[in-house]
Amino acid sequence: MATQSAFCIKNLTKTYTNWVIALRWISLTVEQGDFFALLGPNGAGKSTTIGVLCGLVQKTTGSVEICGYDIDTHPSEARKYVGIVPQEFNFGIFESVYDVVINQAGYYGISRKEAAPNVEKYLKSLGLWEKRNMQSKTLSGGMKRRLMIARALVHSPKLLILDEPTAGVDIELRRGMWDFLRDLNREGTTIILTTHYLEEAELLCTDMAIINKGMIVKQGPIKSLLASMEDESVTIDLDRPFEHIAELSPYTPLIQNETVDITISREHTLDAALKSIHKAGYVIKNIRPKSGRLEEFFIRNTQV
Ligand code: ADP
Repeated sequence: MATQSAFCIKNLTKTYTNWVIALRWISLTVEQGDFFALLGPNGAGKSTTIGVLCGLVQKTTGSVEICGYDIDTHPSEARKYVGIVPQEFNFGIFESVYDVVINQAGYYGISRKEAAPNVEKYLKSLGLWEKRNMQSKTLSGGMKRRLMIARALVHSPKLLILDEPTAGVDIELRRGMWDFLRDLNREGTTIILTTHYLEEAELLCTDMAIINKGMIVKQGPIKSLLASMEDESVTIDLDRPFEHIAELSPYTPLIQNETVDITISREHTLDAALKSIHKAGYVIKNIRPKSGRLEEFFIRNTQV
């Protein structure tokens, strides 16, 4: 029976044959249209979760539904709704760029003629159309990554899963990929990505789950999770290097020349900190929220 969720995982566990427990009773729902970040330190279980979703990893217990179709009872229906971009390049290196994409359509029972408009659309929007007749091994790393994305989209999946899509991609190309993924999401494709770049997740994604040691430790809309942090960090810019650390003792400030980062809790208000700085004879030039809030949130929830 079809439901609104892009996918729904219930009580998923995975134990490998060498008794490594990779996933412990994971439950996770991603709604249609979400731009979802699956975050966690190395070895947390992200790739295993994605592998189960795509049918590449055999789960031990639990159930997974993709767009309402159970992957055990309706594997082919479930599979046609998902496009996957794994970390490793796994296309035929001697195939032309065009063939890598169009041949993938055959796995979903789509003829070359039917697939051709999508192949052209995605090779063009990912900047690969000029390279369509080249052997894929001649592409740069960033182009190979984009070729993997074009291939994953050829059958118009409702859900696109990307495992570290921007790893090793330089900043300019990364920005281009962000724009492409944002447009795709706006047009209705649900996107789930794993990334090591937390600022990338904060910039692109609306929702997230953090996995640690095979368990989900936090899950929800990124904005409200960040807002739930009891304390808040601000950066204060002063007229000269700050040298009165004792005046700010309850705040454990981080001082870099004329910039002071302080964490405000319920007991220690921003107002009191500003008064102390002012009393010590400094002029406050600017106060701004400290960047990298997601990084702070991530560290707090994974260092246990
Ligand atoms: P992540 O993607 O978050 O880095 P993984 O899902 O790759 O984490 O791995 C989760 C855990 O499962 C790790 O302890 C990893 O060593 C283990 N693991 C992953 N794949 C295998 C495998 N094929 N055989 C045995 N253990 C594995």
